[in-house]
Amino acid sequence: GEYSHRVDMKGGDELSRLADEFNELTGRLQTTEEVRRRFVSDASHELKTPLASIRLLADSILQSEHMDSQTAREFVSDIGEEAERLTRITEKLLTLTRLDTARPVQTGPVDVAAVVERVEHMLSPLARAVEVALELHLQPGCLVRATEDDLYQVAFNLMENAVKYNLPGGTVWVYLTGEAHRVVLRVEDSGVGIPEEDLPKIFDRFYRVDKARSRAAGGTGLGLSIVWDTVRQHGGSITVHRREPEGTCFQVCFPRWQEEGGEGT
Ligand code: ADP
Repeated sequence: GEYSHRVDMKGGDELSRLADEFNELTGRLQTTEEVRRRFVSDASHELKTPLASIRLLADSILQSEHMDSQTAREFVSDIGEEAERLTRITEKLLTLTRLDTARPVQTGPVDVAAVVERVEHMLSPLARAVEVALELHLQPGCLVRATEDDLYQVAFNLMENAVKYNLPGGTVWVYLTGEAHRVVLRVEDSGVGIPEEDLPKIFDRFYRVDKARSRAAGGTGLGLSIVWDTVRQHGGSITVHRREPEGTCFQVCFPRWQEEGGEGT
């Protein structure tokens, strides 16, 4: 056909270059398709587990003829907890879907320190309950181009994890520094840490180092994927490394909002 004729005319080098490009593209499509399929299958699995528990609890109540009301109440309360879990998972799945569809990122300078302080305010009851200290070292005047809600989500997920995966008597340090062209937010904790071999997978959807611990803390394994997608959507980057002698350090960089004449100068 015309297509092969055209490729022939361009000679062997061109042909093999095109073939390479074609193969590379097919490979990438397959990977995307595979990632998508795995996501759907993982999501179904995550939703099935609480549903199965609800089913089992309901059946136990219905089938036992002489269940005392105290036990029945406990079962119903468990059902409520599983339902809450389902709500958390579906809310986060919706957030991820929203992030998947390219949308114009709202412009507007957001003051990162103010957002972090709001997160601290929200987290302080939890931190007190588990005896973890929150220490903020925030440079004022760090503005980024973002939506406030998205930035809040990022700071909240990182700081909540730093509290959740900590130990009694532990500390969470949040550092905010402004550089010439970027704003750096660092969330460090003295907690349980993440094994070196798990670090590359930590941003994957549903990935959890310790499923039992995450579950007990109400986790879904989606928080860090949301952080990752959000940071990328705002033109930022995120890295994670083990902290010496213990704990974890997450570092997020956002392009800095430049006063007068917009950005990128
Ligand atoms: P989850 O809802 O389970 O907290 P995330 O996506 O927020 O899900 O985090 C994924 C996993 O990464 C967690 O289950 C936990 O094992 C690990 N993790 C995240 N943050 C920390 C941290 N600061 N210290 C230790 N482990 C962490």
